[in-house]
Amino acid sequence: MDGSTHATWVEVDLDAITGNVAAVLRELRRGRGGAAPAVMAVVKADGYGHGAVPVARAALAGGASWLGVARAQEALELREAGLRAPVLLLGHVPADSITELVAAGVSLTAWSAGQAAAIGCAAGRAGAAGAGPARVHLKVDTGMGRIGCRPDEALDLARTVAEADGVELEGLFTHLACADTPDRGATGDQLTAFAGVVTQLASAGLRPPLVHAANSAGTFTVAVRPGHPEGGYDLVRFGIAMYGLSPGAQVPLPRDITSALAWKSVLAQVKQVPPGRGISYGHTYTTTRSERIGTVPVGYADGWRRGAANEVLVGGRRVPVVGRVCMDQCMVNLDAVPQARVGDEVVLVGDQAAAGGGGQRISADDVAQRWGTIGYEVVCGIGRRVPRRYTTADRR
Ligand SMILES: *Cc1c(COP(=O)(O)O)cnc(C)c1O
Repeated sequence: MDGSTHATWVEVDLDAITGNVAAVLRELRRGRGGAAPAVMAVVKADGYGHGAVPVARAALAGGASWLGVARAQEALELREAGLRAPVLLLGHVPADSITELVAAGVSLTAWSAGQAAAIGCAAGRAGAAGAGPARVHLKVDTGMGRIGCRPDEALDLARTVAEADGVELEGLFTHLACADTPDRGATGDQLTAFAGVVTQLASAGLRPPLVHAANSAGTFTVAVRPGHPEGGYDLVRFGIAMYGLSPGAQVPLPRDITSALAWKSVLAQVKQVPPGRGISYGHTYTTTRSERIGTVPVGYADGWRRGAANEVLVGGRRVPVVGRVCMDQCMVNLDAVPQARVGDEVVLVGDQAAAGGGGQRISADDVAQRWGTIGYEVVCGIGRRVPRRYTTADRR
């Protein structure tokens, strides 16, 4: 792809998203003897930086039947784009947007009686305006310490929701805190507490149609494993692994999951710099010999972190970023690739072939390791001004 029209850009392979959803469905069917739970494609934070709307479409094409978001605006953006699939707002529901969300057919999360009442009022207004029922998923905190009611509050809340006019108790869910760690103790405790709530609601005739617990890590460590089908329940909330990234160093992804995102730039300038010259702000790097220095138009305003050791691919080789990353640019040492020229592609995340064969790959997880963080933060942090380009087999 010709990169000359932009300084830095992201390429998203939508076929990878579609394929990753299809792959997890296959894996779930295998683990559960044929009957797979539904897959909710989690597209919050603009699809983890990949672009929520195109990712949502690609995920639905792969067999996902739900979409999950974290903000009211994210849910409405999907509706404005014409996506009609069920959408669950997984977290905080701003009081003043409930009516609009209900009218847009967005399912809401609730964990307190106050919220249930507010949703009930909004349902009345939406119903009067001809909208369907307000759909609620009750969130139980079984050990994440984040949002959710206590397990012993769930039954009363479920009753409140189920009895409110124009409100439907559609789901019951919890979130696993430690599904990406090898220690199954905490996850087991959470699933046991959650199973207790499910049983209690069922005995009261209130088991909602959609019970769910697993995120990506839970999907691979619990939901697909024979003997642990309870982790899958009726639906899995599939986020990071849909983008082809691992939920944690301890959770190997199935081989047919592939990463969807590449982050690229170009060499804006290449020059020979004599020994003893400082490079970039503060001169934290000084050339020790005559060095070929390239300038790359990507900086911390694009999400390319300043305070970290960085490397990129040029000519299919790894080359180091030298000196401080600026807001819009950074410099690289090109001594390993003497053939590099202005206009050549620079890969920050992704694959690059070498001229004589072979090549290298830098994954978002590799970048995360250098930055002391997780792949989630790398892809979510790619700036808004970095254009996203989409590829599918149709257009290739
Ligand atoms: C973000 C989120 C997910 C997806 O998590 P991944 O680790 O990306 O799979 C699932 N459930 C909830 C409640 C979330 O907030």
